[in-house]
Amino acid sequence: MSVRCRLGRHSGTWSLPGSRCEIVRICDSCGRRAERTRHIWSPYGYVAEDRCDQVRRCERCGSAESRLRHVWGPWLYLDEQIVTAQTHTCQRCGESERTRRFSTL
Ligand SMILES: [Zn+2]
Ligand SMILES: [Zn+2]
Ligand SMILES: [Zn+2]
Repeated sequence: MSVRCRLGRHSGTWSLPGSRCEIVRICDSCGRRAERTRHIWSPYGYVAEDRCDQVRRCERCGSAESRLRHVWGPWLYLDEQIVTAQTHTCQRCGESERTRRFSTL
């Protein structure tokens, strides 16, 4: 085993990805196999007008990843009397979220 291999710096070239996104490299000196996944993600897009789920897909293998991105409006006071409770509403799906502060009363 070469010094480079002992340091974790193996040599060899990465294979070209096929229909899937995994690429493989076999080290020239020690024969160690390494794998990597390199997706070609398209930008995140919303799945529907009134929903906040976003999805992106790999242009090569079709893998999908999703996330939730609300478009929160400004924080508003729920009630003039209870200044510790605030709420904001999502401008896309209408979901609202409020601060979870405990009242001292
Ligand atoms: Zn090696
Ligand atoms: Zn992929
Ligand atoms: Zn939302």
